[in-house]
Amino acid sequence: MDNIYFDLDGTLTDPKPGITRSIQYALRKLDREVPSEDELTWCIGPPLRASFATLLGDDGLADRGLALYRERFADIGLYENAVYPDIEHVLTELARPGRRLFVATSKPAIYAKRIVEHFNLAHHFATVFGSELDGRRVHKDELLAYLEAVLRVYNRYGRRDNLFKARIKILVKERGADKFRDEVEAEWAHLKDGPATLISEEVERVAGRFTRPAYQVLRDESLRTDARYAFPPFQGWLKRNVHPHKVPGYAAVTLSLKKTGVPPGDVSADQMEAIARLADRYSFGELRVSHEQNLILADVPQRDLLELWREARALGLATPNIGLLTNIIACPGGDFCSLANAKSIPVAEAIQQRFEDLDYLHDIGELDLNISGCMNACGHHHVGHIGILGVDKNGEEWYQIEIGGNQGEIRPGQGASLGKVLGPSFARADVPDVVERLIKCYLEHRDGDAERFIDVVHRIGTEPFKEEVYGHAHQRPSHRPEPAIA
Ligand code: SF4
Repeated sequence: MDNIYFDLDGTLTDPKPGITRSIQYALRKLDREVPSEDELTWCIGPPLRASFATLLGDDGLADRGLALYRERFADIGLYENAVYPDIEHVLTELARPGRRLFVATSKPAIYAKRIVEHFNLAHHFATVFGSELDGRRVHKDELLAYLEAVLRVYNRYGRRDNLFKARIKILVKERGADKFRDEVEAEWAHLKDGPATLISEEVERVAGRFTRPAYQVLRDESLRTDARYAFPPFQGWLKRNVHPHKVPGYAAVTLSLKKTGVPPGDVSADQMEAIARLADRYSFGELRVSHEQNLILADVPQRDLLELWREARALGLATPNIGLLTNIIACPGGDFCSLANAKSIPVAEAIQQRFEDLDYLHDIGELDLNISGCMNACGHHHVGHIGILGVDKNGEEWYQIEIGGNQGEIRPGQGASLGKVLGPSFARADVPDVVERLIKCYLEHRDGDAERFIDVVHRIGTEPFKEEVYGHAHQRPSHRPEPAIA
């Protein structure tokens, strides 16, 4: 189990005094009868606005009750709280490399974070998730209608007249996030409690589609120590392409679609037929597609891994490079997409060829390299540890390099990040050299094998990488022509 989620109230801390006394405070201010603290324990856990509507017998007064509650809770009630005995010990015991702990609570995130920090628990958690003070993100049955409000605003103001600006992110940038949010909220006010609100029967109907496979009772195999499995190619594949499963005796397997010489994410019709047979034989007939352009068999018995590996290897689908530099995400780019500024696929292939040596690739360690053929960013270049963006310069294809992007937490408490542009763009033929120089700089600066490329960029900043690529700042041409980004 890699991710563990903890509720806050009633799980990590006992919030009873702070919550019940702050409710009493609000009721007193409203001249209402004030129940005892014990009589108010049912209010701990559910969304408070709904509890106030019940307590006051008047939905219209619930917001006022909540505002008064927060008047006291924000400064006093928040800290009338106690960590349950042994929680610190439990969290410490659960910590291990590769595992992340989260707090997920219906309490507003702003309060949840303060409580976790106040009790010195923050260092245990990657992120604290909570609701917003205005009640957003409280009810899942409202989610669909809220998304409809977002789409309506996009439909009204979005640039459907211009292929290059027809993305919602362009609209958010043009109008500003605050204005866009206000417009969504205004639209939401009309849609709230309307026909798009999910009813529990519908949620259950959809949930019924996600059935649990008929897992067998199996034991975990000794994959790392058993002599049957002890040969390097298989161990390399186990390390990179096989992932832990929550059911004993099973594993999830990534079929790599990142073989050098094949466009990232491509499979032939014959391969696809064979993959469907693998899914039938090894994974309950189910196959998943990942955003990293690979295929995943999610429920493979560990005892079948060796056989699956042999078959996948014969099909060219067992390259042990998941999470490594050659597991490149690349959009179709100029070979197939009419919006492209530049080609992506030949750039990906040139980089894969440059870094084909698997030993070197494993030495470099985890690194996401993403390529987009234009600003629309279908290749997620802006969240690649190294991101490459095709740009247009007077009808010629150039490539802008970014570093420091990341699609998940970089370390507990430090979330996703967007890459920073390194400097002037490069011709296609230069891109593999530039990547090589970035890797050289990383290897020279890393503290040890465990420190990833992205960790080093965030520790030392981009300047040493710029220096490696462009030379010292004082040597760089101050007016090197930079292509306009179309
Ligand atoms: S990012 Fe790539 S696939 Fe997306 S629109 Fe641009 S060129 Fe086309």
